Amino acid sequence: MFGLKKDWSLDVLPRYFTFEDYEGGEARWCPGCGDFGVLSAVQRICRDKQLPPEKTVCVSGIGCSSRFPHYMKTYGFHGLHGRALPVACGIKARRPDLTVWVATGDGDCCSIGAGHWIHAIRYNMDMVVMLFDNNIYGLTKMQTSPTTHCGFRTNTHPEGAWIPHLDPTTVTLGFTNVSFVARTVDWNLPHLYATLCKASEHRGTSFVHILQRCPQFTGQVFEKLQQDPALTPLLTHENGIQLDPEVAKVFPNQQEHDPSNHGAAMQVVERDDVIPIGLFFQDQSRPCYDEFMKQGLEMPTEDKMRGLEQAIDHFMI
Ligand code: SF4
Repeated sequence: MFGLKKDWSLDVLPRYFTFEDYEGGEARWCPGCGDFGVLSAVQRICRDKQLPPEKTVCVSGIGCSSRFPHYMKTYGFHGLHGRALPVACGIKARRPDLTVWVATGDGDCCSIGAGHWIHAIRYNMDMVVMLFDNNIYGLTKMQTSPTTHCGFRTNTHPEGAWIPHLDPTTVTLGFTNVSFVARTVDWNLPHLYATLCKASEHRGTSFVHILQRCPQFTGQVFEKLQQDPALTPLLTHENGIQLDPEVAKVFPNQQEHDPSNHGAAMQVVERDDVIPIGLFFQDQSRPCYDEFMKQGLEMPTEDKMRGLEQAIDHFMI
């Protein structure tokens, strides 16, 4: 008969995800907060790489930046203080097929979560860890964090912080089995995007230290860096972060740095006159614990139960 289709199978159109497909709830950060730029960069990367939202998970701890999963229309887990990384490792261990983004802050990761930070870097599971560093506890209203600089007045140190601050980039470079360390700033969106993009393509844990403005409590901290890009020299290399020449020329100071050279990375990061940004270190050959953990994941349940019973028998007394 005319007009009737002989093949009744459904025509499945290829899916295309737009930016809006990754937009979750309305972001409720303060006006001018640097977190907005990071959120937008991640949504763009998801769109540009066409990551299926149902195969993407955002995990966080506690803090302003840890509201991140609420604003992404993907799976998400808003965890406990300092515990974003063990949750993310757990997800990756059981579901290696998922793309995992971790949002954590300087208070969340570098203080209460510091033990997890060391071991998540050592496990080197395939995920992107974004450390939003605003030099303060913002959500709980301006207490000294591990990255607060000496002399900065906070509610816990009204006369100014006493102890030298910790630099997350330097510290992470020293962890065993580290495989990717980069630093960027929230106020240069092309550099932020390019850095997170490179991180998302890395095999293993990509640690990205993001200098993040908090106009509410540490507005003056990054003002000089913003006004004078010479204070944030750009690390350049054919294997580093690739920037459009028009964007790169904003940085009068540029330093060639080979990210495969760990020793050189340690020297570059220890400069205290300026704060270099770019890719410090990358080694894709380091072992990834998720690749080990996924062995046996496909095993039928009966086989798993049999193995479990054998193990129980083995330890029976
Ligand atoms: Fe952003 Fe600071 Fe406001 Fe928190 S307190 S939302 S970090 S500007």
